[in-house]
Amino acid sequence: MDSRYKANVLRPRPRISVAGNRPAVEAAAKTDVAPRRPSVMQAPVLVLNATFEPINVTAVRRALVLMLKGVAQAEETQTANVHSANKAVAVPSVIRLLSYRHIPQQSRALSRKNILLRDRNICQFCGRTFSTSELTLDHVLPRSRGGRSSWENLVACCYACNNRKGDRTPEEAGLQLARRPRPFTLHTSRQLMRLIGHKDEKWRKYLFY
Ligand SMILES: [Zn+2]
Repeated sequence: MDSRYKANVLRPRPRISVAGNRPAVEAAAKTDVAPRRPSVMQAPVLVLNATFEPINVTAVRRALVLMLKGVAQAEETQTANVHSANKAVAVPSVIRLLSYRHIPQQSRALSRKNILLRDRNICQFCGRTFSTSELTLDHVLPRSRGGRSSWENLVACCYACNNRKGDRTPEEAGLQLARRPRPFTLHTSRQLMRLIGHKDEKWRKYLFY
C-alpha cells in the first residue's frame, strides 16, 4: 500500500464537512445508532498492524472507512450495528490492517493529547491535576534556548506555572519537575493505548502481555 494511505491512518484528520456531502457510512449511522449512544462513531477503536501489533487508536467512523476500503478488517466488535447502503455492520472495537505497515514510532505519537495522557493531566511543576483545557505544554528547556518539541522536552503544565516559568529553565524559575519526562518507547505506546481503551475489555488481549 502506498504512503498516502499510511498518512491517513496515522495522522489526526480534520473533521469532514458534512453539509450536503456526507459520507454514506456517517449518514447511515446517524439514523441507526441508538439515541442513548450518540457518540458511537467517535468511540475509540484499536488499530493493529497485520502482525497484530497495536499501532494506533482511531475513531469508529475512520475504522469503518478503512474496512469499507478493504484495507482493514474487524477483529473485535461491539454489539451495536451501523448500516451501510444494504447491510448491517457491527461496530468495530479492534481492527487489523490487512497488509503490514512500517511505522516510525516517534513521529506517530507526539501530540498534545499524548503528552497530557503520559503525564496523566498532572502539571509537572505544581503536581496538581487539571482538566485538559486547563493545561498547556511546556518546553522544559525553552525553545529560545534550542529546546526541542520532543517527548523528553515537553511536559503538561498549568497556566499559572507556565506564566511563572516564562522563558526560563525550571532551575532559573525556582520550579522543580515532578519527574523527568520519559522518552517515547513501545512501552509508552502500549500504556497510552491502555489509558484510552481502559474501558474496552476487548482490547485487553492485544495490549496486556
Ligand atoms: Zn502548575
